[in-house]
Amino acid sequence: MNVYSCPSCGARLFPEVLACACGQALMFDPRQDCVTPLDDRACAHRARLGCSWIAEGDGGLCLSCATTQLEPHLSADDAPALWEKAEAAKRWALVGLLRLGWFVGPDAPLPVFHMLSEKVDGARQSVMMGHQDGLITLNIMEADPARAQARKQRFAEPLRTMVGHVRHELAHFLFDRLAQTQPDFAPAFRALMGDERDDYATAMAAYYENGPADGWQDTHISAYATAHPHEDWAETAANALHLLDLSHSAQALNLGLAGDSALDQAQTVGVMLNHFCRSLGQPDPYPMIISPGVHDKLSFALGYLDCRGSAV
Ligand SMILES: [Zn+2]
Ligand SMILES: [Zn+2]
Ligand SMILES: [Zn+2]
Repeated sequence: MNVYSCPSCGARLFPEVLACACGQALMFDPRQDCVTPLDDRACAHRARLGCSWIAEGDGGLCLSCATTQLEPHLSADDAPALWEKAEAAKRWALVGLLRLGWFVGPDAPLPVFHMLSEKVDGARQSVMMGHQDGLITLNIMEADPARAQARKQRFAEPLRTMVGHVRHELAHFLFDRLAQTQPDFAPAFRALMGDERDDYATAMAAYYENGPADGWQDTHISAYATAHPHEDWAETAANALHLLDLSHSAQALNLGLAGDSALDQAQTVGVMLNHFCRSLGQPDPYPMIISPGVHDKLSFALGYLDCRGSAV
């Protein structure tokens, strides 16, 4: 993420703030990647969802809010706040992709989102997060830190965040786009990560029955990535996007890191973060293990995810 400053007083701030401490009301322009004083172009969900982005096109919604095709049931007490957090995570993930050149130009479709709550009128309904033909379904309850922590333990996932969920599902969407627009993508992908045409249901059933094979860390970023080549791509690409965001933040903060590639620089940032947090008695914020085999897959994903200057 870039480092932004208040146009009135110059204070550093994050792009989701609606007003600076100096009193200046602000909005964020995701296509220009800048924070500007509030004017009449604000997203129609500014008051309702705390969205700081500027409206784009018809309907008065910003690029991100306009992708929400189905809104969650808001009967649960915590649902409005968790929806707001889930939308903020979606904006964070989307702006990273805009910066890489995605969703620019006339033939650059965005996915649509169903933002669902698993709590409806006091009852629990199951929400399957996933991507299918340009539709991404997310469970807003995953934005609750306590719930994410509990599931992190239950599913033995060291890194489980709302931004991570959004990036994982966006990665499935981008896979389809890459397969449609770049003829060399699918063959190169299959050579590295396997054939995504293998039966998905059979593979998932086997994964849930047997778990990952021993030594999976040599080749896969997460246990879940071993379930099927589609999941290997989504887990790898989501982590590539995390790491790219880290290296971008490091550049914006002038950290002057050693390393030839964004990936190497990001790994250094990850190690630094873990060290700093251990100094404060906090858990490692980037607990993923990047073995040489995983490094190759991350490099492959980064090469295709960064489409600045290409026709995607
Ligand atoms: Zn200010
Ligand atoms: Zn908005
Ligand atoms: Zn997936």
